[in-house]
Amino acid sequence: MMQMEKLVSLCKRRGYMFQSSEIYGGLNGFWDYGPLGVELKRNVKDAWWRDMVSGHDELTQLPGAPSEYEMTGLDCTIIMHPQVWKCSGHYDLFHDFMVDCRQTRKRYRHDQVRGRWVEAKGQKIFVTTMVEADSEDEDVQRRALKFFKLRSKDLEDLKWDGSFIRLTEVTDFSQVLAPDANELGTLTEPREFNLMFKTYVGALSGEEGTAFLRPETAQGIFVNFKNVVDSSRVKIPFGIAQVGKSFRNEITPRNFTFRSREFEQMEIEFFCHPNSSSAWYKFWRDRRMAWYIALGLSPERLILREHAQDELSHYSTGTADIEYAFPFLPEGEYGELEGIAHRGDFDLRSHMEGKLDEKTNPLQVQLGPDGKPKYRGSGKDLTYRDELTNERFIPHVIEPSAGADRATLAFLCEAYHEDQAPDENGQMQSRVVLRLHPRIAPVKAAVFPLVKKDGMPEVAKDIYRALKKKFNVFYDEKGAVGRRYRRQDEAGTPYCITVDGESLNDKCVTIRDRDTLEQVRVKIDDVVSEIETRVSR
Ligand code: ATP
Repeated sequence: MMQMEKLVSLCKRRGYMFQSSEIYGGLNGFWDYGPLGVELKRNVKDAWWRDMVSGHDELTQLPGAPSEYEMTGLDCTIIMHPQVWKCSGHYDLFHDFMVDCRQTRKRYRHDQVRGRWVEAKGQKIFVTTMVEADSEDEDVQRRALKFFKLRSKDLEDLKWDGSFIRLTEVTDFSQVLAPDANELGTLTEPREFNLMFKTYVGALSGEEGTAFLRPETAQGIFVNFKNVVDSSRVKIPFGIAQVGKSFRNEITPRNFTFRSREFEQMEIEFFCHPNSSSAWYKFWRDRRMAWYIALGLSPERLILREHAQDELSHYSTGTADIEYAFPFLPEGEYGELEGIAHRGDFDLRSHMEGKLDEKTNPLQVQLGPDGKPKYRGSGKDLTYRDELTNERFIPHVIEPSAGADRATLAFLCEAYHEDQAPDENGQMQSRVVLRLHPRIAPVKAAVFPLVKKDGMPEVAKDIYRALKKKFNVFYDEKGAVGRRYRRQDEAGTPYCITVDGESLNDKCVTIRDRDTLEQVRVKIDDVVSEIETRVSR
């Protein structure tokens, strides 16, 4: 089995993730977090909130920051006034291109279909696939053989031309074999598909009642900018953070939770003076990269990809993606964990004046055929007045926008290891271990009595109760202790505390470290502080 398959199976077996509505056959693109998964994802979100927002020290200038700054938070609704999405540009521009297969009636995202040119029996065709990277080769070979009515032993009759490329690089679809079709040329030309989920508010089901589920949390922050400035004492530079659900009707959700239709974002809109926005952009880009590394992602599997000039929106002077080498991607490819964008004053200006003409002139409001603004803004004054200098300006925005589910998945991928550990007889046995950083591990420690007698369970339960006041810990007295260790290794629990026969005499217990397998003897009275120190380092 490939590593990703093993991880997916572990996630299901140990209660990290389940397919949504599984007993009804599941719903593509929707995932539930099980008992361990909910703790892991909550810890990821809590670590983010603590490190970026509530634990932020606004009195000290952080390394790389142009000055001190403040941070605050918001929790906005998922359904907002429909005008929000018109002015933000999502109504007109938030789409992907899709292609439909006339034969199978399946729909694919244009840029996600990959394939290879191959020639046999005097005909050259482009065979496509939608399977995961590690089985692409096999799938394309199988389909090409089938198409040309060849047998596996005739593999040499297939003449491959070039390596895998995306369908976006193919201009004529007449020789394309769609991912699930058996005839050529069944794909339609690419068409736009808006990714926002529609719903209806109130009893009206017509256009007037139409609303959208938010495709990002950011807009709730922009439209509350004035409320926050007026109700709290924040002064520029400051950031507003929000964590919450977002929805995108992705055409082809895939790669486990990486691309889902319902997911959670952790976003910051950081408001600053236009003169210092470039410096703040660099600060946030580097700070966010460092955060993933501090929580355990290896720098070798992470890249910070600066967008090229022609990839940038008009209003942006810089955008960088933090990307991770997920094991389901082809060698050398990375998947986005977070985007950090310099957005200029685009968002506040749009919500003030109306949707800006992003394509031709980002400083001008888009006009409809009648010469009037196509989408009117709120008309509210979203400028900021600096009390010291009396200067009034529209703040610039730096937006670090992360996905909680993608971060959780990356931490799981990074943590998955198979190695050897001694069992209770000292024999080396293979084990699966999740080396999650103690801060995000779902269970911080497990407490075991070595055996279920001689007063050991009582002592162990007291330790469990003392720890439970501070952390999520687990008590287990069933089965051989070696098996109990293995179960905790798979759950990613960093420490196991064992009460043995000696403990009643020397008032000490053994703490076993999941990663180093080192066992140390610690006084029962010191267990809570010992675990506390280890978890917070
Ligand atoms: P992609 O190109 O992968 O579709 P994006 O560039 O559209 O992502 P953004 O709009 O920048 O993504 O969203 C910010 C973050 O939200 C992403 O970096 C990602 O972590 C998360 N995210 C976006 N779409 C999804 C999704 N469908 N499922 C899970 N997380 C997502």
